[in-house]
Amino acid sequence: MIICDKISPLRSEIRSMRTARTMGALAARVGLVPTMGFLHEGHASLIQKARAENEIVVVSIFINPLQFGPNEDLNRYPRSPEQDQALCEQLGVDLIFTPNIEEMYGTEKVFTRVHVELLGNYLCGASRPGHFDGVCMVVSKLFHIVEPDATYFGEKDVQQLRIVEQMVKDLSMPIEIVSCATVREEDGLAKSSRNAYLSPTQRKIAPEIFRTLQTIAARIHSGERNLMQLQSDAIHHLNHLPECKVDYLLFVDLQTLTPVDQLDANHSIRLAVAVYVGATRLIDNLLIT
Ligand code: AMP
Repeated sequence: MIICDKISPLRSEIRSMRTARTMGALAARVGLVPTMGFLHEGHASLIQKARAENEIVVVSIFINPLQFGPNEDLNRYPRSPEQDQALCEQLGVDLIFTPNIEEMYGTEKVFTRVHVELLGNYLCGASRPGHFDGVCMVVSKLFHIVEPDATYFGEKDVQQLRIVEQMVKDLSMPIEIVSCATVREEDGLAKSSRNAYLSPTQRKIAPEIFRTLQTIAARIHSGERNLMQLQSDAIHHLNHLPECKVDYLLFVDLQTLTPVDQLDANHSIRLAVAVYVGATRLIDNLLIT
């Protein structure tokens, strides 16, 4: 496994691997898994999928400052470079790309902004202004640097997945976006690097977020149709748990990511949630139809 922190040698390595692993007319495919590190089984599932589908697997580890707001957790975001490397090695990753901020953005002002309209108007986009522009910027740069054939994103970050899909389509990037199911702890809590912030008491409460989504889904599947009532019941329930404060809980159309107030056979609907458990903001979502 090669660990590379500079763009230019990474490009050369990928180029020579592509040549070496191309078999006749069968071009070697490159799969990219973008991450911010502190890798867990959620990331591992993306890497395993990439490994199964590509001749070359690249994992990027970069805590992207552009996607953090001024009062967010950029400076205390957890890091574990040695464990990350060991896990990548174990999963058969070919290349880890770990640039620093200067390598990614240089030292001078960056004039370009990558903005996907409308899809960031609700959910995390509303609570974290500029967040998805930061995501689109770093993801675009990684796509230009690595030139992957396929790239792997988790459904846990459903808005990010949808926005990146749209960006790739709108900009005609020749990249397949592969979505990967959310990996959960045994008690249902979605695995997240930010779970490390939770105190033991908060950790015990956190699985209630997913349980609440499941309860709503079950009520819908047993015939309830008043989505607004279900939404307010769920918000009320979560807000009354110790240390919990709902940021949003919304039924959204998966295509447009706009709120919906009724089921519609022609549209896929997701229930998406963000909850502060103490100071830690956790997100999750569940497919409704
Ligand atoms: P992050 O390091 O948090 O930026 O996540 C990197 C990628 O891993 C993103 O595509 C996430 O959606 C994905 N991911 C994070 N947690 C999970 C999880 N529990 N299950 C599946 N994918 C995940």
